[in-house]
Amino acid sequence: MMRDYLLRESKQEKIAIIEEYIMDRSWINCVRISDEYERGVEEFIQFAQRNAINNGHDGGKIRCPCINCLNGRILDVNIMREHLLCDGFL
Ligand SMILES: [Zn+2]
Repeated sequence: MMRDYLLRESKQEKIAIIEEYIMDRSWINCVRISDEYERGVEEFIQFAQRNAINNGHDGGKIRCPCINCLNGRILDVNIMREHLLCDGFL
């Protein structure tokens, strides 16, 4: 998409591409109830648990990266899953 953008000359076309790009992004952020988003959350939790255990921490509690906790609260994974599904990532 960025390569196409650079190849185009017309300002109007460039604006159209930027608008399309922004639309795509906001669409991704809105679809939190999708299976894909849920899978992503599960994968993230598994990754974070492995990481915590590797660093000598309890894998049952992880720093929550949701928009409300901002990585500042250490939560039970089940609560963290709810935060990520309901509130979304940072
Ligand atoms: Zn949270």
